Amino acid sequence: MSKKYVYMFSEGNATMKNLLGGKGANLAEMTMLGLPIPQGFTISTEACTDYNEGGKKLTEEMIAQIDVALSKLEEIAGKKLGDPENPLLVSVRSGARASMPGMMDTVLNLGLNDVSVESLAKKTGNPRFAYDSYRRFIMMFADVVIGVSKSKFERKLDEYKEEAGVRYDTELTAEDLKKVTAMFKQIYLDDQGKEFPQNPKEQLLEAAMAVFRSWDNPRAFVYRRMNDIPYSWGTAVNVQMMVFGNMGDTSGTGVAFTRNAATGEKAMLGEYLVNAQGEDVVAGVRTPNPIAKLAEDMPEVYKQFMEIANKLENHYKDMQDMEFTVEEGKLYFLQTRNGKRTANAALRIAVDMVEEGLITKEEALMKVDPKQLDQILHPAFDQKALKAAKPLGKGLPASPGAAAGKVCFTAEDAKNQAEGGDRVILVRLETSPEDIEGMAAAQGILTVRGGMTSHAAVVARGMGTCCVSGCEEIKMNEEAKTFSLGGRTFKEGDYISLDGSTGNIYGEDIPTVDPEISGDFSKFMAWADEKRSLKVRTNADTPHDAQTAIDFGAEGIGLTRTEHMFFEGDRIMKFRKMILSDNVEERVAALKGIEPFQKEDFKGIYKAMQERPVTIRLLDPPLHEFMPNTEEEFAVLAKETGKTVEELKVKAKGLHELNPMMGHRGCRLAVSYPEIAEMQTRAIIEAAIEVSVELGINIKPEIMIPLIGEIKELKYVKNIVVETAKTVMDAKGKELDYLVGTMIEIPRAALTADEIATEAEFFSFGTNDLTQMTYGLSRDDAGKILADYIDKNIYECDPTARLDRTGVGMLMKWAVEKALPVRPDIHLGICGEHGGDPSSVEFCHLIGLDYVSCSPFRVPIARLAAAQAQINYPRETRKH
Ligand code: PEP
Ligand code: MG
Repeated sequence: MSKKYVYMFSEGNATMKNLLGGKGANLAEMTMLGLPIPQGFTISTEACTDYNEGGKKLTEEMIAQIDVALSKLEEIAGKKLGDPENPLLVSVRSGARASMPGMMDTVLNLGLNDVSVESLAKKTGNPRFAYDSYRRFIMMFADVVIGVSKSKFERKLDEYKEEAGVRYDTELTAEDLKKVTAMFKQIYLDDQGKEFPQNPKEQLLEAAMAVFRSWDNPRAFVYRRMNDIPYSWGTAVNVQMMVFGNMGDTSGTGVAFTRNAATGEKAMLGEYLVNAQGEDVVAGVRTPNPIAKLAEDMPEVYKQFMEIANKLENHYKDMQDMEFTVEEGKLYFLQTRNGKRTANAALRIAVDMVEEGLITKEEALMKVDPKQLDQILHPAFDQKALKAAKPLGKGLPASPGAAAGKVCFTAEDAKNQAEGGDRVILVRLETSPEDIEGMAAAQGILTVRGGMTSHAAVVARGMGTCCVSGCEEIKMNEEAKTFSLGGRTFKEGDYISLDGSTGNIYGEDIPTVDPEISGDFSKFMAWADEKRSLKVRTNADTPHDAQTAIDFGAEGIGLTRTEHMFFEGDRIMKFRKMILSDNVEERVAALKGIEPFQKEDFKGIYKAMQERPVTIRLLDPPLHEFMPNTEEEFAVLAKETGKTVEELKVKAKGLHELNPMMGHRGCRLAVSYPEIAEMQTRAIIEAAIEVSVELGINIKPEIMIPLIGEIKELKYVKNIVVETAKTVMDAKGKELDYLVGTMIEIPRAALTADEIATEAEFFSFGTNDLTQMTYGLSRDDAGKILADYIDKNIYECDPTARLDRTGVGMLMKWAVEKALPVRPDIHLGICGEHGGDPSSVEFCHLIGLDYVSCSPFRVPIARLAAAQAQINYPRETRKH
């Protein structure tokens, strides 16, 4: 049987979004509700997919079905497309499943040609209206369908208006518009080498194909990537009978929201223009009237409009964004959709609608996009200023928020200038641990290299600082302290702005606004907490981060990266001394210098977390991140150790690794240098005992051994931990309950999870490394490689940011299923960066993990994503 590609509005309903797109499904639903909708038909998203996959051709079947639908529409309208006496005119619009502003614009008045424009003029007795419609159509069709730049037409119109001595389009007479039409046709002929198409059927098919092709345009790709919309969805095409808002003073057109999209306030907000078509409202050429004015101009229409608008909001149980037209006193709704809104408005609307009894708490939870919460937690650009700005380039959106400030090229400069009161942006080839203070002082961080799980990205996200990473277009000259991007060269002190949510980089100082957290936020998040079965922990390395995370609702720490505790001040020197030691004695001595900090830090974290679970990971430094880089750093270290710079360089060279991310890190370090694991275990256990006694609580640390690939490795390091812990407990005369577990971040560990589970009391999936190693794609170099893969649609999204369910996820699922029979009470979590990504959180819920762990600022996102996962896929909370 052949596929049904085309549906009359009367054949669909709101549940058919996948097939008819959002707009098509809503038009069908409104038709079903008996609302005044200009009728039409929808060419399905399946037709789009078949068109794009089938050599970009409409099949005979599709064309035949369009013909049938068109005849039905002509019957309903009592007019025919292309009829010289009584022409039907239609609009053609795209409409994907999710609304996509990056898609094709609307084509209005399709069906006009040199003959039908005359009959339209005669029939309406309004030649001005007819030619106004025709000139608009020529421009839109040429621009949107064929790709002739709109500006050519606009320029011509402006020239004409100037010559005619008029300011507004409305002042142009029928004769003027007739001349403009002829000029527009000439522009088309000059550009295309052929006449403007006169056959309305050809116009229609061309427009439908243009909508399908627009699914492939770069804007659509960008929008889909940002909003996790799969390419496979395709877009539908809506062909709808035209009604005219430009037929005189009893006609008009407008847009309205049932609530305020900026604040969420329950108040109809809208604008309309008398004697105009939709684009006039959007184009901002004439200043529209507030919707309330409609009550004065056309009281009956206003009353009906309000009734329908309220009906639609109650029907869809959401704030509606509506387009309407009044044609000679008769009201039509052209479309309705759930309105886009700011994050604060989204929260307020969700909470208000529950309180109004319109929706349930569950429905409210589904109304807010978890990623949108970023807006509430980070500074944002002033929207007006942002609109006026043009991005110079783009990197990866590594850590959300908006930042503007003066360019600095070293962490030290950033720190000093920030202390002097400047706002600064730290621009680096890539960041390393000694940059930490500069990163903390900066408003934003921009790096040339590195992916979404690179050092800069992970650290910035932890701090909640805006970061754009991996902008390979930048040509950097660190020596001269300049960089160039988008044809401009920036030196120290020049202003730039970064958008960490899109990756855009701007060459100017765009004002930012600080986030505001409203009372609705905590109420809403409490509902999320009631619902979810996944627990949400945080990745935190300092008491300060731990406290931030608790404020955001974290229930524990899922990962303390102990190597991150050595970023600051002179600690890094002590750490370098340790890794560059020549023998055990030297190393033990260096470790002694480190141990007190380590213990104090652990105590601070325990105090912040009280009895909440805390997972501390044994040292896992990719060594290259900690090596001295500059002559100066070597010189300081030489002084500190009593060795010569040369000796240290030889040692550093010996430690140099070609592939440090797969080098001497994680448990491998403890295998080679057990004294490191001993020192850390001592610090963890002593701190836990001391704080437990001091606060009269029971702290139960979870000691995590990283980068395991083989059960014997785990056993070896676990033995060190257990023996050391026993020695400490004996010495302190106090027993302490603690867990020893591991990270699953090497594919071999996942594959042999049944063996690993015999020793590990918990698993935490390190999906940063697990993704790196499953894909064989270096975390540090992923940025530049992935950009091509995403541009060419080989990967739809970045697997280092959004968990790949098919491959990496399969390993996780396997590991869970292998481990559970061996150790039914095993604790299961994730601490890779995916733990704060909504789609990945859903996957963790689905495979039965106990918790996700993410950077403090992403905790609210994970809480909401976990609640939504539970609503969509209810499951039991695991008991231990
Ligand atoms: C991981 O690999 O997912 C992880 C959390 O560890 P890190 O990012 O420190 O390697
Ligand atoms: Mg790791």
